[in-house]
Amino acid sequence: HPAVEFHNVRFTYRRGRQAPRTTPVLDGASFSVPARGLTAVVGPSGAGKTTLFQLIERFYPVDGGRVLLGGRDIATLPLDTVRGLVGYVQQDSAALRGTIRENLTYARPDADEDAVREAVEMAGLAPVIARLPDGLDTELGDQGSGLSGGQRQRLCIARTLLQRPAVMLLDEATSHLDADTEREVRDVLRRISRRCAVIAVAHRISTVIDADRIVVLDGGRVRATGVHQDLMARD
Ligand code: ADP
Ligand code: ADP
Repeated sequence: HPAVEFHNVRFTYRRGRQAPRTTPVLDGASFSVPARGLTAVVGPSGAGKTTLFQLIERFYPVDGGRVLLGGRDIATLPLDTVRGLVGYVQQDSAALRGTIRENLTYARPDADEDAVREAVEMAGLAPVIARLPDGLDTELGDQGSGLSGGQRQRLCIARTLLQRPAVMLLDEATSHLDADTEREVRDVLRRISRRCAVIAVAHRISTVIDADRIVVLDGGRVRATGVHQDLMARD
């Protein structure tokens, strides 16, 4: 089964910030994300990229159509199952407090040493941590200081990996990362995408170029989905 399928999904916010809204955020959106690989989600601001993630996490029920996870209708799955299948990479540095280990096991305090080591390896943090005198038990300073921006980002990714999700959701930072850091993060996402479906809201062209497929959101619909060569050929 594909990791995620949207079949003709319709969704309108009925409460909250700009409610009552009459314009649907999604108006018949259909696409499919395979169980492995990197999918880039692109679209103008307000197109519904964040909402799309939140529907995959079942924050809200859809108004029409169906969202499937691993072939199963999300509406029929227990919420715990959905939470187990979908991992959102929280990248708020302010949430980084305490030791590296505490940050990693934040959502999985029961995670064993092997699982922690594996997540650290996958996120490319093993050499970084090996160089620290206290290793995994190194205290991070305020807002994760003590690690570089890219290292903090990979720590957030490793934390999500520990949940062993079938689908990893990541909203790429708009903040500037230098070229080396950007490459490191991309390498990590590529590696992870051999294990699970990685869906990234792409703010950088390099991520779009790197992606196995691209979902273009615009006007409530998915305008195109495919590899970037296909998309370019279409114009
Ligand atoms: P993107 O992530 O692509 O910028 P969003 O999913 O954040 O788009 O938003 C899609 C549309 O839904 C926008 O018009 C936004 O203002 C609106 N919106 C987002 N969140 C809410 C909410 N909680 N309540 C009402 N409207 C919302
Ligand atoms: P903002 O930048 O809009 O003030 P945050 O910095 O808290 O919000 O989060 C960045 C973006 O990630 C926001 O658009 C928010 O809606 C989204 N977000 C936060 N948590 C989740 C989540 N668990 N799943 C999907 N999107 C999320």
